[in-house]
Amino acid sequence: MRGGVRAAIAICALTSCVRGPLDVETRFPALERIRGHHLDEATPYFWPRDGSLALFFCRWPEGSEIPVALPVGATADETRAIEAALRTWEGAGLGIRFRRVAPGEEQLSLLLADESVPTAVGEGVGSSIVDCRLDGDPGAVAGGVLDAEITNALVRIARRTPKDFRGRDKLLGPEQQTGIALHEIGHALGFQGHVSSGDTSMILSRDDVTARGRAALKGERPQDPTLRALYSLPSGAVIRRVPLPPARTEAVDRLAEVAARGGLRGPFVRVGDRDGRVFWRDSAGEEYGVTVADVKKLLREPEGLVLLPEPAARVLISAGSAP
Ligand SMILES: [Zn+2]
Repeated sequence: MRGGVRAAIAICALTSCVRGPLDVETRFPALERIRGHHLDEATPYFWPRDGSLALFFCRWPEGSEIPVALPVGATADETRAIEAALRTWEGAGLGIRFRRVAPGEEQLSLLLADESVPTAVGEGVGSSIVDCRLDGDPGAVAGGVLDAEITNALVRIARRTPKDFRGRDKLLGPEQQTGIALHEIGHALGFQGHVSSGDTSMILSRDDVTARGRAALKGERPQDPTLRALYSLPSGAVIRRVPLPPARTEAVDRLAEVAARGGLRGPFVRVGDRDGRVFWRDSAGEEYGVTVADVKKLLREPEGLVLLPEPAARVLISAGSAP
């Protein structure tokens, strides 16, 4: 899966860092009251449309009871780790809860992988794929807020570390797995990217993540002002809007028109450690997407936006209609 367009999205490895000094407190002064948050270091979601690039945050709706299915085949220790992570997030003051449902009915899927998991930046101990759905007319931004919310997320938690250069790996213990679950569910809740320091499960250091897992297993409830800051803003809050030459957003503009004519569901937006993605789904679940290349660079130079239509989207755009 490494290197492919689809693999290069919405995934983290606890090994890479996307730093994005967004200066969020200038845009949202109320955030000053949340001490110790690092929302500035988040990677925002990107929505390129009609000669403009919007950078925005996306999260689950206010007061969500997120339907979650626990992994099939989890051991007692693994179940304890995941439950501790879920309870920690429920106690973090975000206003969200989790409702256990039967497999197939969930919006947050949790999977256990026997070995390490592939991510956009190599093998890792966890990964997440998070869909932010835009609704209404996402070109029209009312009060600086897009009609956007997370609708689905898929989290993978590894049972073993990636193999070292000798081909050896190690079993991940309960404290490590709880930390990984905390971290990946944090992405599933809408925080993308990583922070370099501070009291948050979204920290880059694997030792710090494990320490938070240890605390959660003991029944302590480590707080997370960074996620609280995210949840203090409305989902879809626009951080910046960058005007661009119309040709820069043409790939999404043309796909959006075909999708509207063909009644495709979307747009959905993802952002990962390397790339972002904008896509629509047809009734059979087939996806038609455009890759938003190199989000790290895009944060520094939004006017350098590069959109790469995936093969299925190219077919749709050149045909001018949905199948
Ligand atoms: Zn991560």
